[in-house]
Amino acid sequence: MDGAFKAEKTKTTCPYCGVGCGVIATRHADGLVTVEGDPEHPANFGRLCSKGFALAETIGLEDRLLYPEINGARADWEQALDLVADTFSRTIADHGPNSVAFYVSGQLLTEDYYVANKLMKGFIGSANIDTNSRLCMASTVAGHNRAFGEDIVPGCYEDLERADLIVLVGSNLAWCHPVLFQRIMAAREKRPNMRLVVIDPRRTVTADAADLYLPIAADGDVALFNGLLRHLYLEGVLDSAYIAQHSTGFQETLETVLATDPLLLPAQTGLDADAIGLFFKWVTKTEKTVTVFSQGVNQSTSGTDKVNAIINTHLATGRIGKPGMGPFSVTGQPNAMGGREVGGLANQLAAHMKIEDPVHRQIVQGFWKSPAMPEVAGLKALDMFRAVADGRIKAIWIVATNPVDSLPKSWAVEEALRNCPFVVVSDNIRITDTSRYAHVLLPATGWGEKDGTVTNSERRISRQRAFVAAAGEARHDWWALAAVAKRMGWGDDFDYTTPSEIYREHAALSGFQNQGQRAFDISLHAELGDLAYDHLQPVQWTVRAGLLDASRSGSVGVPFVADKKVAFMPVVPPKLKTCCCFDGLMMNTGRVRDHWHTMTRTGKAPTLSSHYAEPFVALHPDDASRSGILEASLVSVAGAGDEIIVRALITDRQSPGSCFIPMHWTDQLSSTGRVGRIIDCEADPYSGQPGLKNTRVKVRPFKAAWYGFAILATKPTFIEPRYWALARAEHGWRLELAGDKQPLDWLNFAASLIGTERNAPGWSVYMDRGQGHHRFAHSVDGRITGALFISPEPVMVSRTWAALQLAEVSKTGCSILAGRGGADQPDPGPTVCACFSVGANQIMAAMREKGCQSVEDIGIALGAGTNCGSCKTEIRNIIDREDFHIPSL
Ligand code: SF4
Repeated sequence: MDGAFKAEKTKTTCPYCGVGCGVIATRHADGLVTVEGDPEHPANFGRLCSKGFALAETIGLEDRLLYPEINGARADWEQALDLVADTFSRTIADHGPNSVAFYVSGQLLTEDYYVANKLMKGFIGSANIDTNSRLCMASTVAGHNRAFGEDIVPGCYEDLERADLIVLVGSNLAWCHPVLFQRIMAAREKRPNMRLVVIDPRRTVTADAADLYLPIAADGDVALFNGLLRHLYLEGVLDSAYIAQHSTGFQETLETVLATDPLLLPAQTGLDADAIGLFFKWVTKTEKTVTVFSQGVNQSTSGTDKVNAIINTHLATGRIGKPGMGPFSVTGQPNAMGGREVGGLANQLAAHMKIEDPVHRQIVQGFWKSPAMPEVAGLKALDMFRAVADGRIKAIWIVATNPVDSLPKSWAVEEALRNCPFVVVSDNIRITDTSRYAHVLLPATGWGEKDGTVTNSERRISRQRAFVAAAGEARHDWWALAAVAKRMGWGDDFDYTTPSEIYREHAALSGFQNQGQRAFDISLHAELGDLAYDHLQPVQWTVRAGLLDASRSGSVGVPFVADKKVAFMPVVPPKLKTCCCFDGLMMNTGRVRDHWHTMTRTGKAPTLSSHYAEPFVALHPDDASRSGILEASLVSVAGAGDEIIVRALITDRQSPGSCFIPMHWTDQLSSTGRVGRIIDCEADPYSGQPGLKNTRVKVRPFKAAWYGFAILATKPTFIEPRYWALARAEHGWRLELAGDKQPLDWLNFAASLIGTERNAPGWSVYMDRGQGHHRFAHSVDGRITGALFISPEPVMVSRTWAALQLAEVSKTGCSILAGRGGADQPDPGPTVCACFSVGANQIMAAMREKGCQSVEDIGIALGAGTNCGSCKTEIRNIIDREDFHIPSL
């Protein structure tokens, strides 16, 4: 041995979406961390998407919460935990157990989740614990429970590769679950007869890959799948033996769909009759059909009925639990499934048991030997924050989530927390839109520091392992929850020292008095030693003795549980929401390709911030023209009693009468981009999941007196104008601006943004007072510290090129004032490939100058699309239709 440092490799999992990809994190001698896909992990077999690939960019200490705080002042853990425990105990003593609440997250590891749920339901004696999974998958949970009697995903990822027909409903899989999408695309390349149908009100990049795209009206899904069931019956392809032996409720469901008028389907779905006919024909003729559904189904006031309408078609044809067929929900969060398994929702008990079932309550209470057990469901997320607002809840502990941004009518959530007597926030980021209302801030470990398990969309439990030390005084969430439980008097019941102890207890509870009745059973892990837990390989539940293959449910449809029947649910289409006013649109919301939730992590990564750098509203050209909205101008969007201002992206990908605004922007990176402010609080009656994707809004132009764009070497400390949006760039920041009135002194304004003095040396200034075009640049020792471009219209400066100038040395400010490079500095254009920083202009140049005619050609010429593959569809669009659209210029 020469004593050389051996890079340490740790197998862990990606903390973003529900695909649950395996990641290998490598710590190098210089302390740097790199990540790569784990070729042995069965979720991704080595692939990662752009977000996973950029994980190393997100683990720095900047913005981290490093020690506890009480009322904004540094405290030690003892003080903070004492205060939390005392306040919760006193509140419970004075006002009862339902006066307190936990609001937790699908970002938590299963072990964190288990302890939070045990503390609230078993010891505090309230069911007031809910999770941000309420916003994500609650309708699927309700639909699964209605159909299967338990929250079960009956298939596995391999089914998507073995299917002959994949129907994607309300799922922009290419952007939101990119590795799964890549697996489907790779399978279709090998089997070109495999077909893809995409059902989505928006023509997404996923839809571009479809053999048939159905631009369904928002919430037209129940009508469509009821129509499909009717058609399947009339075509004689139902599986009578399966229905007779394994199901209940078929006759009533059949009568419901037979009572519908197929001629009304186009009006009920917004779809062309021929397209509906083709879709029905394909499903009829294709036994190996998988229907994949996601947030477009769940985030709806009819979400649960949509889930059951889909499942009904699979039950009726017996296309479930066999290779290449079945209904398949894909979860948004990395551990939404783990949270469901431990009972993290207010209407569940642990281990998939039901709160309203006295036998289940007895089982859980007996296992925990707990002093209390609620007999009714607790408050679901929307109701929980209403109870905070009206004072019924007087103390709330928010763990690993940001409800001030993510909940609908978020201004009301903000108001509720502002007035709540006691708010505890556990987070690893110091300043979020939620943490600013905390009386106590508890620093939590983040990805790379956490240690435990997560469950992905195919029921696969994987280890998330630590590979760096905890930052500052950060501690695991399970540790903080157990420490508070001990102080509240339950020391023996929360005396955990390792996550493996918690996991073993969770596993033992799943098998406790189970006798093969509950599919969620991982009792084989109840005796797992610490070493075995450390080395646990990804495994799909059920994990019980004697069960060899849990990959899919088997032909019965109810997996792994003897003698149970599946249930058809008769469901009726909702009345479609419409807008009648001149400037009214139905607003949808969701993810963009390279960002995650409220951007506390992806916002740190320059590569991920380059694809979309500011909040936008996508509008159909007709709607934009009717409202006098121009491309790249600013738009006021009003709804739910509030208003936001975002950039206009005019595109025929959007159906007329609708618009789309991404969910990611917060007050930390924009002045007016929080879409939660304008979303209504209507919820699904069964699941309590808010209908986030179908809100009435009004749009009108925002009359800016001026527009601005800046590049900045350091983050500005104060941004004054009405509109701003900040994004990380490779060597600093980029900032979009607009104001309704002019600053008194533009140079002062520029100096305050750049963080220098107006009299400092190094300024280059161009001002055209007549036209209102002003340009300022400041440099020190030949390096640009900042530049500001002001115009009465949206600023026409190449953003990508300008941001690159922060890295250049020996520049004078004068050269950047031109706003674009010379012939030797071509503008890359808006970023398409985040992995290799390839822009749209570079792709078009490669087509022109190198004769590239395919995605593969572009890959060879520029590398774009050859790493994670998330941008392949966009590259294909540029080649095929020259249709590439990014709002900022
Ligand atoms: Fe992470 Fe991307 Fe895999 Fe999702 S698809 S788990 S975001 S690498």
